Amino acid sequence: MLTDIKSMNLDELTTYLTDHGFEKFRAKQVLNWIKQDAVSFEQMTNIPAALREFLTENAYLALANIVRVQRSKIDDTEKFLFGLSDGEYVEGVLMRYHHGLSVCISTQVGCKMGCTFCATGKSGFSRSLTASEMIAQIRSAELHAGERISNVVLMGMGEPFDNYDNVIRFLKLVSSEDSLHIGMRHITISTCGIVPRMRDFADLQLQCGLSVSLHAPDDEARSRTMPVNRRYPIAEVIAASEYYVKKTNRRISFEYALISGENDSDDHARRLAALLSGMLCHVNLIPVNTVTGSGYRKSTIKRQNAFVNILSAAGVNATVRRTLGSDIDASCGQLKRNFMKGDV
Ligand code: SAH
Ligand code: SF4
Repeated sequence: MLTDIKSMNLDELTTYLTDHGFEKFRAKQVLNWIKQDAVSFEQMTNIPAALREFLTENAYLALANIVRVQRSKIDDTEKFLFGLSDGEYVEGVLMRYHHGLSVCISTQVGCKMGCTFCATGKSGFSRSLTASEMIAQIRSAELHAGERISNVVLMGMGEPFDNYDNVIRFLKLVSSEDSLHIGMRHITISTCGIVPRMRDFADLQLQCGLSVSLHAPDDEARSRTMPVNRRYPIAEVIAASEYYVKKTNRRISFEYALISGENDSDDHARRLAALLSGMLCHVNLIPVNTVTGSGYRKSTIKRQNAFVNILSAAGVNATVRRTLGSDIDASCGQLKRNFMKGDV
């Protein structure tokens, strides 16, 4: 198997090269080429031919090439289809805010969790992404935009905590000077609630944001749309969320997709308020985005407002998230491996 050197930090690359008989300082040179977006080892002209040959034979440079771009006519959001080294595809989204560019990246090709409202969940699962493939998505988006990316959200395809080790490796690498140097404070992870990994993550006490996809205030309703709830029920998810807040002193976010007639009644809002009251948290309400075959509809504006008001009155911070890129299916839950003929 070829070695994924773009997932390594400077220390690891140094060990790898010295273990194979090359000088220590070569690692820094190779890293500099990676930072300059080298796509092949042959390009690395200041390292000896023997090292170039060794790397060509034993290692690879992970890529996430943009093979298709769709641009929203409403808000300039762009959706990318990234081609990975082994022929798989994932999607990512570039969003333009007043405070800068934000990119939403994928952590897996597909997802195993099967949430009924999510297009990714319906597309099945193929494999997890490496740290280098997560970084490559950001870098490709950055080069495409011609401007630095300031914020990253792990809210594309896949469940980050079902790919925990690679995601943690990604966070440490991307925030370091060896890589893109994007501070953890500018990165947010979204999880469907894999409780043991939420606790592991809290123990790391990273400055990275955490968002938990809740989408229902009780086990019966949540299990109906999110099969993961049968494994990790709400009480455990809430306890792990409280643990995260205690460990990190950071506010936690909850995502709640408002689905007409499913989870958007006053009673749901009151039960959600009871569940979260007193916690250092924020609720992001997302009018559910349409996904082919799901049959779900967005809650009315009136329902959305009533829901926010009930939460606010109970002292629970809540806002309705603005939908971006709706005309290009770039909104939450709409990403899939929809590579089409003629895309390249
Ligand atoms: N797997 C992770 C992160 C990717 S999904 C997670 O589930 O948290 C990113 C967010 O989009 C999650 O909050 C997810 O619940 C939400 N989402 C999925 N499908 C959606 C849809 N059709 N409408 C609105 N939000 C959706
Ligand atoms: Fe997976 Fe998240 Fe979609 Fe659920 S919402 S199927 S966890 S990507």
